[in-house]
Amino acid sequence: MTDTADVIVLGMGVGGELLAERVADAGLDVVGIEANLVGGECPYWGCIPTKMMTRAANALAEARRVPQLAGTATVEPDWSPVAARIRAEATDTWYDRVAVERFEEKGGRFVRGTGRLDGPGRVQVGDRTFEARRGVVLATGTRPAIPPLPGLDTVEYWTNHEAVATKELPRSLAVLGGGAVGVELAQVFARFGSKVTIVERSDGLLPPEEPEAGALVAEVFGSEAIDVRTGVGARSVARAADGVEVELDDGPPLRAERLLVATGRRTELHPLGVASVGLDADAHAVPVDEHLRAADRLWAIGDITGLGPFTHIAVYQARIAAADILGGDAPPADYHALPRVTFTDPEVGAVGLTERRAREEGIDVRVGMADLRTSSRGWIHKVANQGFNKIIEDPRRGVLIGATSVGPHGGETLGLLTLAVHAEVPIEKLRWMIYAYPTFHRGIEDALRDLREGERA
Ligand SMILES: Cc1cc2nc3c(=O)[nH]c(=O)nc-3n(C[C@H](O)[C@H](O)[C@H](O)COP(=O)(O)OP(=O)(O)OC[C@H]3O[C@@H](n4cnc5c(N)ncnc54)[C@H](O)[C@@H]3O)c2cc1C
Repeated sequence: MTDTADVIVLGMGVGGELLAERVADAGLDVVGIEANLVGGECPYWGCIPTKMMTRAANALAEARRVPQLAGTATVEPDWSPVAARIRAEATDTWYDRVAVERFEEKGGRFVRGTGRLDGPGRVQVGDRTFEARRGVVLATGTRPAIPPLPGLDTVEYWTNHEAVATKELPRSLAVLGGGAVGVELAQVFARFGSKVTIVERSDGLLPPEEPEAGALVAEVFGSEAIDVRTGVGARSVARAADGVEVELDDGPPLRAERLLVATGRRTELHPLGVASVGLDADAHAVPVDEHLRAADRLWAIGDITGLGPFTHIAVYQARIAAADILGGDAPPADYHALPRVTFTDPEVGAVGLTERRAREEGIDVRVGMADLRTSSRGWIHKVANQGFNKIIEDPRRGVLIGATSVGPHGGETLGLLTLAVHAEVPIEKLRWMIYAYPTFHRGIEDALRDLREGERA
């Protein structure tokens, strides 16, 4: 049975859902195909539930800081009611129903099933074939990358799915991977009461970001009794009487009740049938042009493009691809001011190039750095005031090409820096701007002073 539509969207995660709604809103006949839940990774196992867990964990940490601020009796709030409430809300799937209804109200046709490309403009779902008049959009996201560790297939392990869905707090948790997902969940579980160890093969946590950011997060984690082992790889995993045992490259084996594998994400292009449209099924991502076109009558958006594993990238690309499908004139995709936030406490916000990446690109950068603790707001904040702003200038153009803001609200401070990098605001304009007193974002002015005058604020 062959069915035709204007547009077929394969994968209704954050990117696919938005694009499907936009083109349906514009009057096109759209078929949206989703194997699991509409909304994808973000609302059920990614951004939303993990940030709800972070919110609860941070509230507990903040409550425990009261004695340090006020010199009062120790506060030891019980994690369980907070975590139980968060868990109940975080694992709800109501959004799937709402999203399907909204799509169908716009005239979209929803199909629950696993789709596969079958030549240009054609998608198969079971025994049904769909033919697209304008094109197909691939928006199937990524899955957790499971490393080929000897013994891993013989033990029970968590990915972000099980870590979000668990109703039990493990006594101890070993986390493989010190990237954003690993460090966020490590701190959450530690603050809820688990004994947490992180194993990261690189020399520092958050390897793609500024090394100072990973070092500060490691320092804070150390003060919270999280055991951070960087520069160490896992060699093998085995079942132990009370959980798992991880053999490391260096040092004694690590034992924990639970193991969380957070070693990145991967695309699976073979099952999507990309070879039938002339694409390399062994590639790590689907290459796209600046309008997200991947082949004849084929667009790709979101994690599958390999251009940034973030909801905001999937949404940004969905808007551009939708405009392209509709014959509009959206500007071409531009990633020079790509923002990233790791929601640890302190938060790590970053945009554009790191110092190292910029130097690798041959830019003779100038760097400004300011410690948040010495700012007025940092001094007022006292407990848990660690952080910094690091800004990277291309001196030839006199603009910022990258920045990192670490601190209690590092992700929010990043907004100003993202605008500066995105709009290529001249450094002199930023230096002569008025920064509200006493805010955390005012620390950016200190970094600008350091950049120009070499004065450490
Ligand atoms: C723990 C965690 C925390 C995160 N936190 C953040 C955060 O704070 N901020 C942020 O910006 N990003 C965050 N992310 C990343 C974010 O979730 C992803 O970047 C985003 O979901 C990507 O959207 P997407 O549309 O490309 O793919 P997805 O959201 O993964 O959606 C793809 C959809 O396609 C479906 N699908 C796959 N194959 C098929 C098929 N053959 N047929 C039909 N359907 C198919 C899947 O079921 C899925 O629903 C986090 C990720 C994780 C894992």
